[in-house]
Amino acid sequence: MTGPKPLSNILAITPYKGGQKLDHGWKLSSNENPLGCSDKAVEALTKAAQHLELYPDGSAFALRQAIGAKYDIDPDRIVCGAGSDEIFQLLGRAYLQPGDEVLQSAHGFLVYSLVAQQAGAKLISAPEKDLRTDVDAMLERVTDKTKIVFLANPNNPTGSYISYSEVKRLHAGLREDILLVLDGAYAEYVQQDDYNDGMEMAHDYPNVLMTRTFSKIHGLAGLRLGWAYGPESIIDAVHRVRGPFNVTSVAQAACLAALNDDAFVAKSVAHNNGELDRLKPALEEMGFKVFPSVANFLLIDFGSEKRAEEADVFLRSKGIVIRDMKAYGLAHCMRLSIGTTEANDDVLAAFNDFAKAS
Ligand SMILES: *Cc1c(COP(=O)(O)O)cnc(C)c1O
Repeated sequence: MTGPKPLSNILAITPYKGGQKLDHGWKLSSNENPLGCSDKAVEALTKAAQHLELYPDGSAFALRQAIGAKYDIDPDRIVCGAGSDEIFQLLGRAYLQPGDEVLQSAHGFLVYSLVAQQAGAKLISAPEKDLRTDVDAMLERVTDKTKIVFLANPNNPTGSYISYSEVKRLHAGLREDILLVLDGAYAEYVQQDDYNDGMEMAHDYPNVLMTRTFSKIHGLAGLRLGWAYGPESIIDAVHRVRGPFNVTSVAQAACLAALNDDAFVAKSVAHNNGELDRLKPALEEMGFKVFPSVANFLLIDFGSEKRAEEADVFLRSKGIVIRDMKAYGLAHCMRLSIGTTEANDDVLAAFNDFAKAS
């Protein structure tokens, strides 16, 4: 007997594998906030947990109002999802059909390829220069079939970003019927003057959507909440295809509290950027090649897949798990999330031992 057969494009998908953890030691494989989350978020979640029998507000009204007030944007042009991942999936559902093309930069976030595959669309990857998005290479690959362009800025797993003027140049080269998604998952970390999250573009243009998440700077990855801001027509399309109660009540409550805990966000940014500035030169001093990063992780080039695997095994033996990059076509690299000061001290000691042992 044979059961129901999934679509062939679905069977072609390699399921997403999250970062691994050890029973003991440091999990530095998923770009999580090492400081945890805001106490106020936990408080609000605990309070909301008194009424788990109630369905959530399907429109996430209060949270959207709060986001709107925080960023001075129209709450009616915001939609929430179970992580920004879900929003990407919903965009695929609303805009893609078999044969369409999804364009990304070569080492773009893995979820973009899943979105394309689910829809039977084709993923087109534009080559990068020094692991940075190359706007000209992207524009050269736009065709009649291009429907969605995904740009993570900064990008995961490379840690690189492109300037606002480059983002604008990318947009200017796209037809108006092509949806440009500006994924700002790490926007809060970036201090560079020439960086911009693209909120204004999402305000001004009929084909730009900006996404944000509570998973990274707010340290609420476990709750699954992301949001998007953009033109009414795109927000409307996402509402049509989302589940009626796609975001839980406890997540909405906790995220609302986290959103306004500016002190926690500032502390997280200061810790991260301070540790980035400490770790990168220290690793380079030991002889490792480390790419510049404006996010909460570092991409390290070990020169070969074999050496990267050896590093992985060695670090695990020291109780440290980082992320292998095989799924990103960067098998010679590993991605290290910024941890607590204590974790990072252990990381430096372990890398130093690894460098000396070989
Ligand atoms: C972590 C990450 C996200 C956020 O995903 P969530 O579903 O909101 O947890 C989005 N984009 C990129 C590039 C990321 O690295």
